[in-house]
Amino acid sequence: MQVTRETFNDVMVPNYNPADMIPVRGEGSKVWDQEGREYIDFAGGIAVNVLGHCHPELVKVLQEQGSKLWHLSNVFTNEPAMRLAKKLCDSTFADKVYFANSGAEANEAALKLARRYALEHFGEQKDQIISFEKGFHGRTFFTVTVGGQPAYSEGFGPKPGAIEHCEFNNLDMLEGMMSERTCAIMMEPMQGEGGIIVPDPEFIKGVRALCDKHNALLILDEVQSGVGRTGHLYAYMEYGIEPDLLTTAKSLGGGFPIGAMLATDAVAKSLKPGTHGSTYGGNPLACAVAEKAFDIVNQPEVLEGVLQKETLYREILNKINDKYHVFSEIRGKGMLLGCALNEKYNGRARDFMVAANNEGLMCLVAGMNVVRFAPSLVIPNEDIIEGLSRFERAVASVVEASE
Ligand SMILES: *Cc1c(COP(=O)(O)O)cnc(C)c1O
Repeated sequence: MQVTRETFNDVMVPNYNPADMIPVRGEGSKVWDQEGREYIDFAGGIAVNVLGHCHPELVKVLQEQGSKLWHLSNVFTNEPAMRLAKKLCDSTFADKVYFANSGAEANEAALKLARRYALEHFGEQKDQIISFEKGFHGRTFFTVTVGGQPAYSEGFGPKPGAIEHCEFNNLDMLEGMMSERTCAIMMEPMQGEGGIIVPDPEFIKGVRALCDKHNALLILDEVQSGVGRTGHLYAYMEYGIEPDLLTTAKSLGGGFPIGAMLATDAVAKSLKPGTHGSTYGGNPLACAVAEKAFDIVNQPEVLEGVLQKETLYREILNKINDKYHVFSEIRGKGMLLGCALNEKYNGRARDFMVAANNEGLMCLVAGMNVVRFAPSLVIPNEDIIEGLSRFERAVASVVEASE
């Protein structure tokens, strides 16, 4: 059956507006569309394809597990899930792991667990969840309400309650909002969808201290920042603090859907048998692929490579900006970078993304003012150089059309 971009409009719910071209094949950081046209991939499936497309070791483990055992449900445990959980615990603050299928589901589990923990240990008045403006935590009704973009959570009827939003990076305001009623703080250690916003180290440390003071749990949403993305295995690791709960997804499966909630023993205890669950969570196929992706990313040379590649991106992007004067700032960390547009190009991030696509480069936006790159952590330097020369042509075309 022949399908085209028009088929999308015919048969898909209209909540997305995908690009005109249809990718059919990928290898490393390159993708080809139906017409055989090549693209360099700086989008990485939205910070998911941590090792690019069809990494040979991921293909191998997928095929091996695919001919062994796909699915069991949680009535039975399985070897890949336990091995992956052990590795996550050995490499982080966590003692226990809960597997889900997406970032939103991992966050949903963390929020429900935080409420449960507060109820068991302090009583039902301790229900306040505080999160941050422009934060993003997923699209289930609980997680989207905790997210800091009202536009995403409105229009669906009554929302889950006791959720409040604080300005990001504003410790005084947070202090004023917190009390013994505070159950948990949920935050991204670097805001992704909200525009690639890196918090002050003092802010993160201050949030941890306030949580300790008020017996509130710190939930770090590392769905986008985790698994090597910032050049650290998890972003929290460079700040000298530890969360009580952490969620991880996107890069975790290298392209196979999986999410996980990591917890300390003390908090995990509140999810007693029957309190929460998922049919697919901890599925052996997903866990086998994620285990291999995790093994590859969690090596010093891969994590160091991320920081070297960041330097290369920044050097070239600064040169492009010296020539065309379009960005106010290049921000972010590792392989999660944002080119913030200056006043003159305010609100036009999508124009740059579409122009890049026309030049053979896949990239993303983060809001209306930031062009976002979230490529593979092992993208070859020659693909970075070629991708950015395509990006320079895209920038030139937007600038020219605006003269
Ligand atoms: C993408 C994202 C989510 C949601 O993940 P899904 O897999 O789309 O449910 C949650 N939190 C953050 C920080 C994200 O970037």
